[in-house]
Amino acid sequence: MLYYDSLFAGKETEIGKWFMKRYPNEVSLVSEITKRFNHILQDSAGMFEPYWAEDQTKEFKFAITKKDGILQLALDPAAMFFIGGMAKAITDIVISDLIPNILPETKKCLQCSTVNNKIVKYCLQCGTQFDS
Ligand SMILES: [Zn+2]
Repeated sequence: MLYYDSLFAGKETEIGKWFMKRYPNEVSLVSEITKRFNHILQDSAGMFEPYWAEDQTKEFKFAITKKDGILQLALDPAAMFFIGGMAKAITDIVISDLIPNILPETKKCLQCSTVNNKIVKYCLQCGTQFDS
């Protein structure tokens, strides 16, 4: 089993080195997800820690169950936290890295020279209607 520290804190394993070389973006995402998952676990430590002895490892579960005739995802609390950590990592990356690098298409108003987003039908400054 690979631990976060052994993959990302200078104690790389062969598989960790291979993964980093071949899939650097994915390794970065694994790192960000792991950090947030660990943060959620540590935040909930009072509820979880009594069930672990030092160095004990337990699996967490994703399953499918049938309730009222409908198949549904079933998660134990740690699996729910994992999905939460994954969602937080992806959201943080989209907000901090992707959105600032997306430059919207613009169009300039011929009346007042204001630069507007391409999707608007009227100039946001003077109200002049755009043809398209
Ligand atoms: Zn204008």
